[in-house]
Amino acid sequence: MKCSQGGNFSKGELQRFGNIELNPSAGVLNYGQGLFEGLKAYRKEDGNILLFRPEENALRMRQGAERMCMPAPTVDQFVEAVKETVLANKRWVPPPGKGSLYIRPLLMGSGAVLGLAPAPEYTFLIYVSPVGNYFKEGVAPINLIVEHELHRATPGGTGGVKTIGNYAAVLKAQSAAKAKGYSDVLYLDCVHKKYLEEVSSCNIFVVKGNVISTPAIKGTILPGITRKSIIDVARSQGFQVEERFVPVDELLDADEVFCTGTAVVVSPVGSITYKGKRVPYGVDGFGAVAQQLYSVLTRLQMGLIDDKMNWTVELRIL
Ligand code: PMP
Repeated sequence: MKCSQGGNFSKGELQRFGNIELNPSAGVLNYGQGLFEGLKAYRKEDGNILLFRPEENALRMRQGAERMCMPAPTVDQFVEAVKETVLANKRWVPPPGKGSLYIRPLLMGSGAVLGLAPAPEYTFLIYVSPVGNYFKEGVAPINLIVEHELHRATPGGTGGVKTIGNYAAVLKAQSAAKAKGYSDVLYLDCVHKKYLEEVSSCNIFVVKGNVISTPAIKGTILPGITRKSIIDVARSQGFQVEERFVPVDELLDADEVFCTGTAVVVSPVGSITYKGKRVPYGVDGFGAVAQQLYSVLTRLQMGLIDDKMNWTVELRIL
């Protein structure tokens, strides 16, 4: 789909996956005017396909577009385009229990612009790829390291939207952590350098007794759709959930820690290395709360339990 600055997106068309042409002075290449989304489609036992809260991705893209001075598809256009793309690729949606189809909507300033300014033209596209579990063991515990020098977002910046530059900002710390054998990096706020923010591509939760705490949404962390869903699921399961500033020191006596995201779903954290000290969690890294929430969320996403929240969108395969 294409659109000029200030205009509306027209209906798009399906194209074979392949390279796309871009002007060398496209806004996205020169000034990072780009946003993306990520969602998954799961195959049900009856062959139909389930999407999980796609309108939330559409809304998040619209909020991000406002921050990035871009026009965005309407919620209906976004959701319809996702449905059409998934149906056209239905053979790539893995069988139940064998993974999912990852859906990547992209919005970019594709028009040519030399001086710093929003691009004159925009492109919205969607591509898909089958994916397995993020970790081969399913809910395998991950090992994080707290980053003390580098930050992914600043107050007033773009950390709260899913813009491409946020991911460029984490590459250095993430690659260094992976080279040392960690799964990913846990970022702190850049003002006080003591409050938890998030991991490179997922949100974080800290469990103490019956209370589950997660950093509040305040512009520097991504408002994860899995985060929002897990807060509701956890409350419905009788946990007390607090969205607040979570000091990094709370990691030292937490019962368990877990991460949430479309890719990682609910991933238990086996250990966090903080100021050179490795703090282990759970039994071999598996926390009971993370397992319980993982189980409820994934059964909902796969259509194995009643969707009382009305979160799933079913695509019927005739
Ligand atoms: N934080 C960041 C930085 C992310 O990239 C993601 C993945 N989109 C998340 C959190 C989790 O968001 P969601 O649950 O919507 O996938």
